[in-house]
Amino acid sequence: MLEEIEEGIWSWKTGVSGPSVCIAFGTHGDERAPIEAGLALAARLRSGEDRPACGTLLLIHSNPRATAEGRRWSEGGIDLNRCYHPDVLAREPRMYEEGRARRIVAALEAADTRILVDFHCTAEPGRPFLMQHPPASEPHHGEIAELLRADVLLTDPGLNFGGVSLDEWMSGRGRVGICYETGWIGDPANTPEVLLDEMRNVLVGTGMLVGDADSNPKKWRLELDGVVLCDGDGFRWRDGLGVNLQELDTGTVLGVYADGREVALERDATLIFPKKKPELVQRGNPLVYLARKL
Ligand SMILES: [Zn+2]
Repeated sequence: MLEEIEEGIWSWKTGVSGPSVCIAFGTHGDERAPIEAGLALAARLRSGEDRPACGTLLLIHSNPRATAEGRRWSEGGIDLNRCYHPDVLAREPRMYEEGRARRIVAALEAADTRILVDFHCTAEPGRPFLMQHPPASEPHHGEIAELLRADVLLTDPGLNFGGVSLDEWMSGRGRVGICYETGWIGDPANTPEVLLDEMRNVLVGTGMLVGDADSNPKKWRLELDGVVLCDGDGFRWRDGLGVNLQELDTGTVLGVYADGREVALERDATLIFPKKKPELVQRGNPLVYLARKL
């Protein structure tokens, strides 16, 4: 049966040998569709409508305080998906999110979780995609990715984000850790019903729930292998540029700083997580990550 270990962390231990899987959601408290989907899954498990047949399931609502406040992270807090670096986990937590990261990691260790999918939405419009860190050639990792609807798989074997996220924490331990960007936060088609089906498909595909899993081969594979850092003030993107997963040619001028200097691509690249909001464009921080097609 479903047991609430602590606020927002539930486990179901079947006692039958099988996979150890975690579905996580609400790392960012304003991403409503995956949060509602995850809470609906918890309700189905609680009522017995869904009953795992084998293995251990962990269900994690990562930042319930931020969800209650309707914010990306809690008031006065920080981005929870930057709190999983070993140095941060090792020290005394300084705020809610750091303490939360510690408890989430403890739950994953206790359940010996081997497969984790963390459901998110993107802040800017764009197509859904998956991100994971081992090479796409790694077969077991690919099998889990195929259970999700997005047809874009971005790999990041170099841990370009610095080993700070939950999916990176899993990958650093040789386990499957997928960050699933299910689509734009404002996309009316990205509903809790659709995402609940996807969460359940992961459980069906890993054998925890009975049924036939949908499999979605990834048509488009990318590897994150570069970054353009901001090294000036007042950067402005050129009109029409700065869209996530946009493919651009060598020499394309991305935008211009206030002093007139242009930023141009030195190679063909696909843009990843372009920073469009002025508060995110800061000297020394990434303007955009770059990927190449595999
Ligand atoms: Zn998110």
